[in-house]
This record gives sequence, C-alpha cells and structure tokens, in this order.
Amino acid sequence: MESPRKLKIAISGGGLAGAALANSLSRLPHLHVDIYESASEFSERGQGIGMAINAQRALSRLVPQSEELFTRAGYVTMKSSRVTIGSGLHAGTKVIDVAEEHPGRMLQRAALLHELLEPVSRSTMHTNKKLVSIDEQTNDLLLTFEDGTTITTDALIGADGISGFVRSHVLGSDHGAVKPVHAGWAGVMNLVPIAKAQSKLGAEVLQQNRQYGWMGENGIMIHDSIMDGKMVQCIGTSVDRNPSEERRKHIDRDYLETSYSAWEDGPIARQMIDLLLDQDSPAVYEQWEHVNAPTYTKGLVCVMGDAAHAMTPWQGSGAATALEDAVILSTLLAQVDSPDQLRRAFQVYDAVRRPRSQQIAESSRKTGRILSGIDENIGLDPIKMHDALKDRWAFIHDFDLDGHINDALTMLHASG
Ligand SMILES: Cc1cc2nc3c(=O)[nH]c(=O)nc-3n(C[C@H](O)[C@H](O)[C@H](O)COP(=O)(O)OP(=O)(O)OC[C@H]3O[C@@H](n4cnc5c(N)ncnc54)[C@H](O)[C@@H]3O)c2cc1C
Repeated sequence: MESPRKLKIAISGGGLAGAALANSLSRLPHLHVDIYESASEFSERGQGIGMAINAQRALSRLVPQSEELFTRAGYVTMKSSRVTIGSGLHAGTKVIDVAEEHPGRMLQRAALLHELLEPVSRSTMHTNKKLVSIDEQTNDLLLTFEDGTTITTDALIGADGISGFVRSHVLGSDHGAVKPVHAGWAGVMNLVPIAKAQSKLGAEVLQQNRQYGWMGENGIMIHDSIMDGKMVQCIGTSVDRNPSEERRKHIDRDYLETSYSAWEDGPIARQMIDLLLDQDSPAVYEQWEHVNAPTYTKGLVCVMGDAAHAMTPWQGSGAATALEDAVILSTLLAQVDSPDQLRRAFQVYDAVRRPRSQQIAESSRKTGRILSGIDENIGLDPIKMHDALKDRWAFIHDFDLDGHINDALTMLHASG
C-alpha cells in the first residue's frame, strides 16, 4: 500500500525561533519541513542571550538532549540577575536578585543557533530566499521569493522577525499592528575579554557568574559573562525620546556621557562607558516592538517568535517566548495530517499562545519603565523598586508548560 504523502511545512526565517521549530519538526516523520532564510547564511547578530528557566524547559521539550546542547554552546549559569541602583542618592544599593532559585543560563547567540540547526538536514535549509508573496490556493499555498522562484506548500510558519513579511499577510498589510513601533530606548553593546572587563569592573564583581543590571536615571547598564566565562557582554541602554530612523547609528564618548550624565559619580558608569567604547565602530541601536496583534494566524499561515510578538528585552523573554511557541506548534503539528487539520492547529496555537505572549510583552514594557527609573510612582527608590519588581518574573518563570501543552491538545481534540 502506498504510504500517505508527507505534509509540506515551510518556515520563513532562520533566526532562533525558526531554527528551534525546524529542529523539533524535523523529527516528525509525517512532515517535510523546509526553512527559507532571506540572508546569505543562517546567522545571529548580537552577542549573548539569556535562557531563563522557562526557556530551558521549553528547549528540553523541543530537543531530545538539551543539556548536551547547552554544554556544546558554552553556557554560563547566572547565579541571579542582580539589580543595583547606578545613579543618584542610592547609587550602589542592591535592589533584588532575580531568578536566584531558578538560575538562567547565558549563551552566545551564534553558538545557540548553530546547535539548533545542527541536526536539520542541509538539503532543507535554503538561504537567499526572501519571501515576498503568499498566494492562498484551494488547499495549499504558493510562495514567491525575491529571486523569482516559487514553491507550493501545505502550510507556512512565519518566523521572519520583527519586520518580517508574513505578519503583514496574516493581519493585512494596512493593519495598524503590522509595523513595529519605537519602544522608547536605544542601546549600545560590546563584547570584551574577561581580563579587560575585570580591569575596569573589578575582579570580585566578575568572580561570580551573575547578570548585573544597574538601574539609574533614564537608563540601564548590564554586564554578564558568556562563552564559558571567557567574554563579558556589556550593554548600555538609555531612554530615547527622539528615535532615529537609522537601524544603527555611530556614537562617541560624548553620546554616552550625555546619556548617562546623572550617573557620573556613581559606581559603574565611567567604567562601563570605557568598555562600551572599546570597539572599532561603537553604535547605538534603536529598540522596536510590536503593538498586540489581534491574531497570529490566517488559514494555512501563522506567525511565531518576534514575527508574532516582538517585545522589549527587559524581562529577557523574547527568545524564551519563541521557544514556547515552538513547543506548542510542534505539539499540534504532530497531530495533523490534512490541510483542514493544519488550519485548526493554527487556530488552537493562536488561542493558546497569544494571551501568554502578549501578557509577557506588556509586562516587559512596564518593567523597563521601572528599571530605567521613569515610573513616576517608584523613581529610583530602592524599596519601592524592590516591591515593584519582586513578583514580576513569577508568571514567566514558574509557567506550567505541561498544562499549556495539555490545553492545546484538549482544544485540538475537542474540535474533532
Ligand atoms: C538587546 C536585546 C537583548 C535580548 N535579550 C534576550 C534574552 O536575554 N533572552 C531572551 O529570551 N530574549 C532576548 N531578546 C529577544 C530575542 O533576541 C528575540 O526575541 C529573538 O532573537 C527573536 O528571534 P526570531 O527568530 O523570532 O527573530 P529574528 O532573530 O529576527 O530572526 C528572523 C529571521 O528571519 C529572516 N527574515 C526576515 N525577513 C524575511 C523574509 N521576508 N523571508 C525570509 N527570511 C526573512 C531574518 O534574516 C532573520 O534571520 C533580546 C533582544 C534584544 C534586542
């Protein structure tokens, strides 16, 4: 007897979201999964990424040997994310240790992406494939790429990031939630060898692997170790009320000293400014985010990761939320074998994932205001900050992923 045709799933975008999903789906024998990336290679910009406990749990559901994956990617366990005041009257006062009971792990982004894509068949990974058009046919989709080539597929998952194409198809190109909006901050980053960081920040600070977040007037400075503790990632983010249209704008010492002028006599700014400038071409990146989308799916198409819910980084949750998306998508797609079931699976994915991911995005936005001292009721008062921050991560980290999976399966099966 002829075996049934495999369902064809196309993933557009090969960042962490698309790679995690491709990794997991490639183990499902009834699916044929292709991943189409617009760039000339699968790569990650940026440096470190924190994997909180909920991200670690999600990864363990997606990848059979996730502990080995973390080890190969050179993770560093963070004892906590320590929040300390960086400017003003209370400069130097510790506010809180976040995630002390469930430590996060810092990884180099490129190493994590490499490990996620490692088991995916090279013949299913396609570069220079910028998706530019989606035509809905009766029971499948015709996708067109910028180079003029086309494919047909049973379903499309847009993992094409904050400015991707698939979101505009799902929402309609004129919808107000398609385009990202400026989040209100801009950040400068650098990666420096541990010895250099120690010479500026002091050996004791870096002896313990923690994420250090310094909160002060109009800004946040962060440093944490990555790459088996050999390198330190430094980030300075300040409130930006006049966003530039440029994605990347060159900056100099004057820019940083002006942004952190209120931090001058504090314990951290001078050293961090030196470290942030210790690179060939220091630049500032504007932060963008999405307003809530009314849906993550349309017919045989859905969006995940930043394409669905690009958020501010203040609760370290964008990629973690994408991994949770991938868990639910792969759970549901394990159950389907027809286009109608694919449509239903995407509706269930939307119903389960949208409230959770949008709650995290909203919480992250508010957390950023607290951390950068611009919440009028809290300011830079360490006690008020502590009280405002202490419970903010619980709903993210202590999430019942198994219950979430069960909810998705119950909903799918309830619809026959
Ligand atoms: C400063 C900062 C710090 C952060 N820290 C953390 C953290 O500690 N923990 C955490 O969980 N999250 C963190 N995040 C969030 C996290 O980085 C993102 O949520 C995550 O990387 C998004 O992955 P993605 O795959 O959805 O999108 P992307 O990484 O943007 O990938 C999208 C991919 O799609 C491709 N693409 C775009 N358009 C097309 C097209 N038309 N056709 C085909 N391909 C296309 C792109 O080239 C890209 O490769 C942070 C974010 C920032 C800005």
